[in-house]
Amino acid sequence: MSNYTLNLSPSVYDYLQKHSLREHDVLQKLRMQTHKMSTRRMQISPEQGQFMQLLIQLLNATKTLEIGVFTGYSALSVALALPPKGKIIACDINVEWTKIAKRFWEMAGVGEKIDLHLAPALETLQNLLNQGEEGTFDFVFIDADKKNYAAYYNKSLELVRAGGLIVIDNVLWSGDVADPAINDADTQAIRDLNTLLLNDERITLSMIPLGDGITLARKK
Ligand code: SAH
Ligand code: CA
Repeated sequence: MSNYTLNLSPSVYDYLQKHSLREHDVLQKLRMQTHKMSTRRMQISPEQGQFMQLLIQLLNATKTLEIGVFTGYSALSVALALPPKGKIIACDINVEWTKIAKRFWEMAGVGEKIDLHLAPALETLQNLLNQGEEGTFDFVFIDADKKNYAAYYNKSLELVRAGGLIVIDNVLWSGDVADPAINDADTQAIRDLNTLLLNDERITLSMIPLGDGITLARKK
């Protein structure tokens, strides 16, 4: 995993950030706060957050889902791009990290937009399906435990509307997916998902080398 865009020289990466980032003050504060943590590399990069904001606006999204919150950077990015009536259902299991997330969401004035579900994400997704929420979401961001990626994707595809978008994080996994010598469970799970997506006729897709690699999957 990484919180920077892969394979750009430091000077080009610095240029990209200096000539494109318009990071909200609270997003920047949250990034600085998370930077103090040993787990900081799980956070998405600021240019990825800004790209997701653009996607939210292009989609005119109002109803969104996030699987994997950590300290809340991606959810805060999306929340800031949503219209006032926009909502995020945010899934995580970690109390300590999401406590930080909630503090910064409130600080940015978007706490009302984000509904945190502290439970295994598969349960939350299944509950939404059981409640008749199939085909109602505009946007889903998948960024939790890699072994469940395929299950998250399949349930997310049921939950999004036609024309809705699923964004999947870490699809290049620091390049490990392309190294045949690396065969741990997480790497294999990401490879399996990448193959599944390539062959899934229900979506149009694009894999983008932004951050640690993201795939955009649009439901037909
Ligand atoms: N999107 C976040 C980073 C997410 S890191 C950001 O922008 O900063 C991955 C998160 O997935 C962690 O917070 C972890 O607690 C969560 N997670 C792991 N297993 C999970 C599960 N079964 N259900 C829900 N969340 C899970
Ligand atoms: Ca990630």
